[in-house]
Amino acid sequence: MHNHGTTADTRVIAIANQKGGVGKTTTAINLATALSELGKRVLLIDLDPQGNASTGLGRELRDRTYSSYDFIFNRTKLAETISETKYENLDIVASTTDLSSADIELYDRERKLYQLKDSISALRRAELHYDFVFIDCPPSLNLLTLNALVASNSIVVPLQSEFFALEGLSQLMQTITMIRKSSNKSLRIEGILVTMFDARNRISRQVEDDARSHLGSLVFETRIPRSVRLSEAPSFSQSIHDYDRYSKGGQAYRKLAWEILRRYETSQETAHVQ
Ligand code: ADP
Ligand code: MG
Repeated sequence: MHNHGTTADTRVIAIANQKGGVGKTTTAINLATALSELGKRVLLIDLDPQGNASTGLGRELRDRTYSSYDFIFNRTKLAETISETKYENLDIVASTTDLSSADIELYDRERKLYQLKDSISALRRAELHYDFVFIDCPPSLNLLTLNALVASNSIVVPLQSEFFALEGLSQLMQTITMIRKSSNKSLRIEGILVTMFDARNRISRQVEDDARSHLGSLVFETRIPRSVRLSEAPSFSQSIHDYDRYSKGGQAYRKLAWEILRRYETSQETAHVQ
């Protein structure tokens, strides 16, 4: 684990959509590595029992002693659940299959919605500082995902440019509203990210147009193209920036990192003015 001192603000961002296969994990890996390249200290928490983000970043299952399960339930010292990756500035809390029972175990907890938030807060007390914490959510609106929404400042919602894409969105929006009312007033939508965009495909263009006309500035300017290079990279345990840096997908994820940073810089300037 990289040893970073403590400083002030950590942005906690959940990458969530209850649909599977929409690009959550691909976004988690390539956005996290893009920001780490820019010198930001990043922690990626793999909250999906399938562990694709962990594998994609080269954490082989046999090497994972502790996992996000231990992180959530405080089964060991926080620092022991965190591993370095080959990327400077990027650490990971990997997932293992024991995470699949976490959802059921959470039901019995008094603070069942706050377990992850409590652990993330404890990072600072343990002098583990990150500029960004990304949470790669499972494809469901279960208690793990609710924990992520409660623990986060904002949420990135990948939207696959395919038919029915917008249908699942209203359920997610309702959940966000519910979480805002009950447990996390300041939860923001960081942005809706159009993924797997194919300009030659009419449905793809339609989904993007609909999303932009209904959701306006909630949709990131950057869109992620459909690119086979993005789907190949994890099998080499590489981010797209390593695997095929100048591919369209690589460029898009770096552009997204800048888009997010720019917003924070703008909002900080605004904060100073006030
Ligand atoms: P999720 O985490 O939402 O289930 P993934 O990121 O695992 O989704 O993506 C689902 C599948 O689609 C994976 O095989 C992944 O490699 C592939 N994929 C993701 N984004 C793209 C893209 N922009 N272009 C092509 N394939 C993609
Ligand atoms: Mg995934």
